[in-house]
Amino acid sequence: MIAEWDLTQTNLRRIRGRNYGVAVLPTSAIEAHNLHLPEGMDFLESYHIARRSCELAWPRCESVICLPGIPYGVDCNLRDFPLSLHVSQDTLNAMIRDILISLKHFGIHKTILLNSHGGNDFTAFVRQAQVDLDIQLFVCNWWTAGKDVEKEIFVDPGDHAGELETSVGLALFPELIELEHAKDGAAPPHKLEALRKGWVRTSRDFGKLNDHCGVGDPRPGTAEKGRRFLDVVCPRIADFIVDLAKSGT
Ligand SMILES: [Zn+2]
Repeated sequence: MIAEWDLTQTNLRRIRGRNYGVAVLPTSAIEAHNLHLPEGMDFLESYHIARRSCELAWPRCESVICLPGIPYGVDCNLRDFPLSLHVSQDTLNAMIRDILISLKHFGIHKTILLNSHGGNDFTAFVRQAQVDLDIQLFVCNWWTAGKDVEKEIFVDPGDHAGELETSVGLALFPELIELEHAKDGAAPPHKLEALRKGWVRTSRDFGKLNDHCGVGDPRPGTAEKGRRFLDVVCPRIADFIVDLAKSGT
């Protein structure tokens, strides 16, 4: 069956019969994730979560269209890990800006960037694009949609390739996860107190943290935990899509 909310599946005849008002654009990265998760982890997560959320939203709002995701992200701090590919935030913003102009041309004025990579930062871009293009633009880092249930589900969700991400991977594409090769994700705390307390921020060079590009112990991760988390996150994103579709311009 053709999913009419998926731009890679639908076709011109069907599109002409629709009136799309909201676009979902997954953004991600191609990068190392400890030794057990695929390099495409962020891309695959955003692919599955965006599609599941749009599928859930569709019966209530047949006006959402899920776009193919952008696979590359800001990864200059992972240069010690082979084939972690970097594109600059400016390049990413420029490409998204062009996509938004195209969407506006076709009457879509509301777009959600469903982001899967913490290294992408669209804050300033959103501010600028809304003014320049007279559109509505939103960013959802999907894992934050379940922040309030993390403690119920995970021992320690972790920061990069940890228990949360590993569980989500096990739930969505278990055939790509080699948990038996995972290292512990132990990373030294920041040397500076203000950074440890979180009121000063910086960018970490992952190559200086450990040799496997993981932060957080992935080994307690299970498919069941991943499913529980996704069963919270995807319906919430779907609800937002519906609310946005029904809201005024
Ligand atoms: Zn990731």
